This record gives sequence, C-alpha cells and structure tokens, in this order.
Amino acid sequence: MTTILEQGNISIHTENIFPIIKKALYSEHEIFLRELVSNAVDAIKKLSMVARSGEYSGDISAPEIEIKFDKDKKTLSISDTGIGMTAEEIKKYINQVAFSSAEEFITKYKDSAAEDPIIGHFGLGFYSSFMVASTVEIDTLSYKDGAEAVHWSCDGSTQFELSASDRTTVGTTITLTLMEGEEEYLEPARIRQLIKTYCDFMPVPIKIDGEVVNKHEAPWKQSPSSLTDEDYLEFYRYLYPFQEDPLLWIHLNTDYPFVVNGILYFPKLKPDIDITKSSIKLYCNQVFVTDNCEEVVPRFLLPLRGVIDSTDIPLNVSRSFLQGDRTVRRIADYIAKKVGDSLKALYRDDPAKYIASWQDLGNFVKFGSLNDDKFKEQVKDILIFRTTAKLGDGEEAAKVEVQTEEGDAWSEVTDNKPATDAKGNFYTTLSEYLERNKDKHENRVFYATDEVSQATYIQLFKSQDLELLFMDSFIDTHFIPTLEREYSDVKFVRVDADLDDTLLDKEKQSEIVDPATNKTRNDEIKEMFEQAINRPRVNVKPQALKGEGAPPAMVLLPEEARRMQETMAMIQQQEMQFPDDHVLMVNTAHPLIQNLLGLSQSTIIGADGGSSPAGDLAKMICNQVYDTALMAQKGFDADGMKTFVERSNTLLTKLTER
Ligand code: ADP
Repeated sequence: MTTILEQGNISIHTENIFPIIKKALYSEHEIFLRELVSNAVDAIKKLSMVARSGEYSGDISAPEIEIKFDKDKKTLSISDTGIGMTAEEIKKYINQVAFSSAEEFITKYKDSAAEDPIIGHFGLGFYSSFMVASTVEIDTLSYKDGAEAVHWSCDGSTQFELSASDRTTVGTTITLTLMEGEEEYLEPARIRQLIKTYCDFMPVPIKIDGEVVNKHEAPWKQSPSSLTDEDYLEFYRYLYPFQEDPLLWIHLNTDYPFVVNGILYFPKLKPDIDITKSSIKLYCNQVFVTDNCEEVVPRFLLPLRGVIDSTDIPLNVSRSFLQGDRTVRRIADYIAKKVGDSLKALYRDDPAKYIASWQDLGNFVKFGSLNDDKFKEQVKDILIFRTTAKLGDGEEAAKVEVQTEEGDAWSEVTDNKPATDAKGNFYTTLSEYLERNKDKHENRVFYATDEVSQATYIQLFKSQDLELLFMDSFIDTHFIPTLEREYSDVKFVRVDADLDDTLLDKEKQSEIVDPATNKTRNDEIKEMFEQAINRPRVNVKPQALKGEGAPPAMVLLPEEARRMQETMAMIQQQEMQFPDDHVLMVNTAHPLIQNLLGLSQSTIIGADGGSSPAGDLAKMICNQVYDTALMAQKGFDADGMKTFVERSNTLLTKLTER
C-alpha cells in the first residue's frame, strides 16, 4: 500500500483553468507531446550539467527518453533519465511554477488566441497534458543524495496527491490516462509521426518499442567545418523529400547580439512559386515550432528553404505581434545580410559555380532586388547577364570591385573579360557592358528575351558587332524597369524594338526616284507593302539594313508599346496577345525587296486597273515576306498559319511552272 504523503489544493488565482485547457486553447492538442518531451530533454541536460560540476557521480552515458503505451489502461508514458524531482520540487515546480505559468498564459491568451494565433504555442508546458489526459501522474527520483522517490497524481481537478514511490532509477516518468476521444495517442504510429514533426532534432534519443525514432542530431548546431557538401544535401533531402537538390546553402551561426543558428538553402525558383508562403522551418532549441515563419524571414527570402533556430524569437506571442518585434526585425535583417554576403563570397571565390547556377540563382537575386532595397544595393555588383560578347571583343571591360558591408574591398573579379559558363556562354555585369559599349551606343542596352524566336534579330546585331544581353528569365520583364530606375540614363531596348542607327545604312536611305511626284524609293516600297498586306494598323517602315545576311523584312514591336501590352497581359493573367499594332521594317537593301519593287512596277505600266499576273505575284510575295517576318515573332494565329502554308505552296507551284 502506498502511503499518501500529502493531499492538497493547487492554488487558483483566477477561475479554474482546467476547463479552458481542455477546451483546446490550442487548436492542436498534439503539442502536449512536444511539451512533455521538451521537459524530459531539459531534465536530461540538467543532469549532465550537474554531473559535469561534480555534484552527481551516477552514470549519464546513455541518456534517453522512452515512450510506452498501455492500450488496456489507456495510458501513455514518457520516461526520461533526467534530473528527477524531490517532493519539495514537485510542489514548487509543478504545483506552483508550472501551474502559475499555465495560468498566466491562459489569462493572457484565452480571448485572442483564436483570431490571432500564437506562433509557437509555448508557455503552457507541463499542464498542456490535461488537454488530452483525465489523470496525469509523475513518478520520479531525484539525483540528489538520499532523495526519496515520489509519485504525484492529479485528475484534472485542482486536487493533487503526493505519495512515496518504489522507483529506484534517477529520472522521471510522466503517465497520462487519456480522455475519451484522445485514443489516437495510444497508437505508436501517431506518436512516431509527432516525434518526427516536433522532436526529430532534439538532442536525446527517443525510443518507442526499443527503437530510436528521432534523428537527435541537428546539423545546424554543428560547426560548418565539420559538415561536407553531402551532409548538407542529405539534410535537405531529408527535410524536403522528392525535391530537386538545392543550388547552394548558407549556414547561419551567431550568438551575439542574438542567437540564430540555421541552414538556409536556395532551391531552384520556378515561375509558379508562391512567394507569400514560406517553407523554412522554425525551431527553438531544436524543438520544432512552425513551418510557416513568414513573420521572421524577410518577405523576399521566403522562397528559401531550410531551418532557423533561435531562442531569441518570442514564441508565446501572437503572430502579428511578432512582426513588430524589434529583435525579430534585427534577426530578419541579419539573415538578409548573410544571404547577400554569401552570394558575394561565392562570386568572388568560385565564380564558375556562381555562373553555373546563375540561371536559377539569378532569379532569386533579381527577386530579392525587386523586393528589398538594401538587398538590391548589396548584390548590385554581382548581378550578371549572359552576353553575346566574346573574349577579345571590343574594348576593355570595366573593373568591378565587390565590397562586403564591413567595407573591405575585394579584389577585381572579372579580369577585364566577361566570364564564361560550361557551355562557353559569356557573362557580364551591367556596368561592364555599358563601359564596353559606350562609344558605340552610350546608355543603351540591347537585350533578347528568346534566343530561338529572336534568332534573326540576334544574328543581325551580331553581324554588326553589337553586344546583346540575354534577359530570358521569367522575372526579367519585371526587372528591367527596376534597372532603368537604378541607372536613370540607361534605356533597355529589346532586339526586336526599333532598330538602332548603327544597324542602318544611312547613305542608301532616301534617294528620290520620281521627280514628278517627289517620291523616294522608300515611299514606293512603303506603298507597295501597305496595299499588298492591307493592314492599316501595321506601320510599314522601309529602312536599309547593313550587312549581307540581313533579312528582307522584320516585324518590330516598339519597346514602350510592347511593355504596356506585357503589363496588361500580366494583370489579366493571360498570355500576351501579339499586338495588331506593330512595325513592318522592310529592308530596302535586300535584293528581294528591290526585285519586288521592279516586279510590281512592271505591272502598273500598261495595267488597265484590273489585276495582272505579275501584280498578283508581287502582292503574294509581299504577304509572304510579311508572314515570314511575323513567324519569327510567333505572331501567327491559326488562320494566319493556314494562309501562310497555302501561299507558300502556291508560290512554289508558280516557281516550278514552265
Ligand atoms: P517549463 O518547462 O517551461 O519550465 P513546465 O510547466 O513544462 O514549464 O514545467 C515546470 C517545471 O517542472 C520545469 O521547469 C521543471 O523544473 C519541472 N519538470 C517538468 N517536467 C520535468 C521532468 N520530466 N523532469 C524534471 N523536472 C521536470
């Protein structure tokens, strides 16, 4: 028979808190397990501290937490090899401390918790077990010399009972008799799943049925030098199974002025990424808190993944409070700065890797620059673009100095030449580009967004030795205006917008051919095409292009109008329609155009107003020239495509007639 040492009342300061606890102050009852296991881990840590200070000489070599189930009795128990408690300590820590902190917590949050959820649900501690248990028992033996084992039990009322126990091992067992409706916690599979979620990285092995079920080592708490690339990748794959490997990662490690540990990974950014959701996991002392910590991470860093662990983030506060918290803001700034710094370090130390991952990394850097001015400043020197320039091209590139925020200047990284990736593509910063091209086209940046569909245009630029940048990521459309604001004198012009003067042969431009009407040859070509294609909204613009390889015609989309169209399409969340208003640039220097003018004029003479075979042919070819140019712009609808194919065949038939 056990002797009851003491029966008593737990002091109540306000109303009875148990009904409130039971009524799910937490939407998730399950966190009781996290609270009890955390207490067990703390108790084990305390014992090892006591042992280190020489106050305890027992064996602490195999710390562990064991979880057991008894389906018949409807009990779940959590045993630890920790410090244990004496009867006095139970009275103090459980009856008073635990109770009053639970009470304080509840008075503070019982009204607000529903609308403005509490970030970490921390604070209720031991008493959270009453969310799921009708009776809670503690069986414990303190490490202290001569301590007697005690047994405490409480049935959820304010009454408790303390008696002697026959326990002989130092440590504590908490046994919960589960309430009706909470039987799920008798299922080992359910408990395993909860341990995986909340306690996976707690630094003590947790056993179920004799098997360790948690990882119990937190890579982010280890020193970066002790981890290999494979360790980091393995951790990533563990956290985000079935995902593509990350591009790179950063190990956060600081103790002052706040404690932050963590590993952040850069995943590949996809166009459909939800930039309002975070998948970074927040931990406090290796205890899982939440996997949406939008409040802690700067918005533009939300696409990152990984773990942040900090004891300085207040967790028993509401999420909205957290956003305004000074320490949290400073932690967010720290994270942002670290991300910028490590990108700069990579560019400096391993430009090949930086360039190799740029296609993806670039999206991230641009996204960050769009969203955060400080970050934009930080990364502006490491923002690079794929270019058509080649080694040995043109003049010397600008020198780039990358600086860290601490102010230590880094050495030149570009070697005055654009850097290359594995495929031999060259990359350049914007200031290098501007510097290299300032004599040819000052403050104008030519860019292409699609290497395939803009091939004709790109070729034309290349043939005239004009350097182009490729701005072909999904984020670039948004990014160009930001760059233009930054470099206020600079204009970005897409290859298929207006043709630059350098591409034109001014001398051939406008000789007058018909003194009677004062018409230039260009006027005649314009008329011929306007009549043939019969599209009032297409602006026909005859220009003489330099170079032999230049095509007979090109469809141009003036930069401003195209950008407006793009913006509209974005707002309406549609694909951009090919605009009816566009320019048909006819290359008057091309033999086809010259022949065509001859062909159409030969029919005007002697024509009696009706159509003539040669006139029809000229008209047909004008349309064919236009369509071919349009095709390079993806400017066809289904009808257009059909007409084009039919006409191509008609023309070929005519060519083969004898
Ligand atoms: P907290 O852990 O936040 O201090 P709790 O209500 O969870 O609050 O616990 C109150 C106190 O009870 C703890 O600080 C600790 O002193 C004691 N305690 C709880 N669980 C254990 C345990 N398994 N072993 C030893 N002491 C414990």
